[in-house]
Amino acid sequence: MFKCPNCHKPGIPILKKTFMGPAAPTKCKRCGKKVGVSYYSLLTMIPFFFALVLYDATELNLLGLIYILILILIIYTIFMPLTSKE
Ligand SMILES: [Zn+2]
Repeated sequence: MFKCPNCHKPGIPILKKTFMGPAAPTKCKRCGKKVGVSYYSLLTMIPFFFALVLYDATELNLLGLIYILILILIIYTIFMPLTSKE
């Protein structure tokens, strides 16, 4: 669980954060307030596009692409700061 920026208690499930976007905030399980990620999180999508270009250019196999996408998701989940949306 990740810490909520509102109540500072671990109220954000890891998977919720992984699939949370700047336009799709989630609710804290402890205090019920809205929590989201800043628009800077869109920057993490840049390597995703590079991966797609690389996939096209180098005929990287599909498994390689999936590994890269999982890696990006893990980095995104760990390093994206959560912000209050209240
Ligand atoms: Zn909270």
